Amino acid sequence: MRLSSSRFCLTVSALAVAAATTLSLAGPVAAQDAAKVPQDDLLNATVWMETSVEYKATVTQLFKQAQTQLDKALADKSWTAVADKEPAGYEDLPVAIVSDLDETLLDNGNYEASLITRGTSYSSKEWTDYVNSQTSEAVPGALAFLKYAASKGVTIFYVSNRKSIEKDGTIANLKKLGFPMTEGVDTVLLKGDQEGWGSDKESRIAFVAQKYRVALLMGDNLGDFSDAAGGSLEDRDEFFKASQDHWGKDWIMMPNPEYGSWESAAFGGDWSKSPDERRQMKKDALKPWTPAK
Ligand SMILES: [Mg+2]
Repeated sequence: MRLSSSRFCLTVSALAVAAATTLSLAGPVAAQDAAKVPQDDLLNATVWMETSVEYKATVTQLFKQAQTQLDKALADKSWTAVADKEPAGYEDLPVAIVSDLDETLLDNGNYEASLITRGTSYSSKEWTDYVNSQTSEAVPGALAFLKYAASKGVTIFYVSNRKSIEKDGTIANLKKLGFPMTEGVDTVLLKGDQEGWGSDKESRIAFVAQKYRVALLMGDNLGDFSDAAGGSLEDRDEFFKASQDHWGKDWIMMPNPEYGSWESAAFGGDWSKSPDERRQMKKDALKPWTPAK
């Protein structure tokens, strides 16, 4: 049975190659080479973020919008992105922006590209090596916006789930790219920097809000804005409906189709499932149109 199965597969493969050879205008060698390129779920998203003008234009638009919103925030002392976290008298506090780093301000496309070209997946240890390589680039539009903000006296807090052991490499990378850093203030707040600072970010956002009026929150993941934003697809949709007034006003979301909590929500956050099981659950989360017969 196994032998006949194998033979059947070989026959199907041979037929597929023959068909591709027949249909290819580039000739049989090109068709066979093309058939050898392994599939990778990360490919399209990474090509879009790393090569497309559409991505660059999208994020540039968002940073320009952020600048418009920042001007409004500076002109209105009652403006805050985190009303539930500001103390009494916050109107007179200095102004700050709280932003995530990865795929919000820092473009780690060379890391994603490395995963694809080596046929491997994310690992925590290798990520630390990557951070220490200090080769992240700036997301288009990020530097111009943050330099403008700094010129207005706004302090920028970088709230990231990079780990404390990655702090030196992160700060060096930010400085190398020219991101504004306020002298004498620890503005890079990473996971584990203080007791109780885990992956959830609201404690760090509240820490900033004790001393600053937070004009804008910026991120590429729901968790960059609220701890209540995890969970199921349904929970996330409910949160989205409840937070409508923030989006585009004092919360700015950047696009990241490479990774994020949106992906794990589609398979119940169960990373112990195999890649094939996760892929199937993602397909099952879709609501497909059925063509008429
Ligand atoms: Mg991020």
